[in-house]
Amino acid sequence: RLKEGRALAQDVWSIFNAANLPADCINLGQGYMNFAPPEWIKDAANDALNTVAASHYSHPKGRPRLRQALKKYYDPKFGRDLDIEQEILVTSGANEGQYSVFVAFLEEGDEVIMFEPFFDQYLPSVTFNGGKPVYVPLHPDVSHGKITSNDWVIDFDELRRAISPRTKMIIVNTPHNPVGKVFTRAELEGIAALAEEFNLLVMSDEVYESLTFDDKEHVRIANLPGMWDRTVTVGSAGKMFNATGYRVGWLIGPASIIQPTLAATTRIVFCSNSPLQEAAAAGLEQVVDRKFFEQQRKEYNERRQILIDCFDDIGLKYTRPEGSYFILLDISEVTWPENYPFPESVKGRGRDFLACWYIALEFGVSSIPVSEFYCEEHVNIGERFARFAFCKDVATLKQAAERLRELK
Ligand code: GLN
Repeated sequence: RLKEGRALAQDVWSIFNAANLPADCINLGQGYMNFAPPEWIKDAANDALNTVAASHYSHPKGRPRLRQALKKYYDPKFGRDLDIEQEILVTSGANEGQYSVFVAFLEEGDEVIMFEPFFDQYLPSVTFNGGKPVYVPLHPDVSHGKITSNDWVIDFDELRRAISPRTKMIIVNTPHNPVGKVFTRAELEGIAALAEEFNLLVMSDEVYESLTFDDKEHVRIANLPGMWDRTVTVGSAGKMFNATGYRVGWLIGPASIIQPTLAATTRIVFCSNSPLQEAAAAGLEQVVDRKFFEQQRKEYNERRQILIDCFDDIGLKYTRPEGSYFILLDISEVTWPENYPFPESVKGRGRDFLACWYIALEFGVSSIPVSEFYCEEHVNIGERFARFAFCKDVATLKQAAERLRELK
């Protein structure tokens, strides 16, 4: 008998995969780049491929060079002297790291709070491990035209009411996918206070930490008073270095969280791929001196602006993202002919699945329907939006913007 519920349904990334769309469709769907990681990181990957040691298993904790590089980069960020044996764990992408935390900590019926919209992987990752997702919506103020990701707010009474004796964990995602929200210090303090009061673990997915705009400060909930001991922070080389296929991520937190998670990750993958850990290490060793993230932020800011200008021109509402590389477009006014030939994979899903399909086929730009980031009961909220990724080169984004202007 199949497991029940949404966990085994086809994922949105596969439905809107480039392979299912016309070849000339510009892919602003799944968040990955159409450019390579920086040369110095690729060089390190090549060097590693020519090294015998890096062609074989690594320690399940991660290669010492990468853990050392993570320590060097993160010590000042966390204001700690991180222990590379106990407090840092390299994972096969951030996703596997999160999954391993659930494997290690969730018992049947444990509840995990996530803010809605939520990155879609959280849901099956929780339910596959016997957990029960509990959703707390971020409320967008859609009444005015110029909404920013900061206008998506938490109702703290609602958050408190969502906590039960079975609540084990709360997932924070800042900068947020798909909204682009950078949680403020006050918001994180509010979440931290509840985590303390109810003795909850916090999983803080910060994979877009290096991508903030408009001078927004990335605040780490692990750094708030008393929070280190109950927080695991998730990071990603793919997001930091434009290398999403490398599948190198990491977890940072107290030994009490990292060590059980190490046991889980060891059983799932044993270790992460070795050569690309070396590449990620080279990346982290050099980012500060190269001012890589400062430069990258400028580039992403320019990319973001291309879509913002486009949406302003066509007069559709959107959320101005203050972090990550996604932008939500309000597609409630986009319409299509009554008998439009939609494939089975999108029929019967939210209206946004139809809209995204129609925009991809007729305007040649793919995006991701946002109801996938909502639980089934709240599809009606998510189906207002399509998510466009702006992690593409400027020429591609300009071409996409030109096509989307026809939506007017
Ligand atoms: N994080 C990426 C996105 O949101 C891709 C996620 C995935 O493929 N599972 O687009």
